[in-house]
Amino acid sequence: MDRRGFIRHAAAGAAGFAAASGTEAHMAGHGDRGHEHQHDNAHQAVPSDLNLRVKALESLLVEKGVVDRAALDTIVDLYETKIGPRNGARVVARAWVNPAYRRRLLTNATAAIAELGYEGGQGEDMVVLENTPRVHNLVVCTLCSCYPWPILGLPPVWYKSAPYRSRAVIDPRGVLREFGLEIADEVEVRVWDSTAELRYLVLPERPPGTEHMTEEELAALVTRDSMIGVAKVTARPNAPFVQQRLAR
Ligand code: FE
Repeated sequence: MDRRGFIRHAAAGAAGFAAASGTEAHMAGHGDRGHEHQHDNAHQAVPSDLNLRVKALESLLVEKGVVDRAALDTIVDLYETKIGPRNGARVVARAWVNPAYRRRLLTNATAAIAELGYEGGQGEDMVVLENTPRVHNLVVCTLCSCYPWPILGLPPVWYKSAPYRSRAVIDPRGVLREFGLEIADEVEVRVWDSTAELRYLVLPERPPGTEHMTEEELAALVTRDSMIGVAKVTARPNAPFVQQRLAR
């Protein structure tokens, strides 16, 4: 399955959750794994009840003319794809150009991130994982969708999907391949399970050929996906951001 296939598959899984109700959500369409039951709990990421209530509220508010749907979409898009990941990108770029900051980031991430003004809910206890030529880090939340909101914004749909949550642990190299990222056998892949207590940010490797770039230019190269660990940062400006938007 290619990346788009994986994402479509993931979206179908999420839609399945949203459509289900009660204490069991039936997951279908998982090929040879057949029919599974996902038991609901308070930590679940795609709560059918909540999704439906939000949709109902939104529809009502739009119908009454209280809010404008286009304005809502703009706000969500801003938070999800622009403000959020750009904060993380500034953290990464600072670490690339400033060795002392990088050391602080790797030893006390929450404090180092707060130095740049990024703190708050869903980011109280941060850990930064450094990718190196020998180690590649990948972040998942196997239980639901724990994610560092103040620096990455809202989690993408695929991050919350059942296929990603289970397969990132069982077959991380296979999942990365579907994202177009081939990790060499000699590189260790480490998978980190986010929780309500700890949120992770991957510090990707600085791409070669960027020695002349300013901190701001470097930040423009850093993508959301590279900070989750499903992509590498490349020196081609803008291209990764375009791909990221297409993948949503
Ligand atoms: Fe979670």
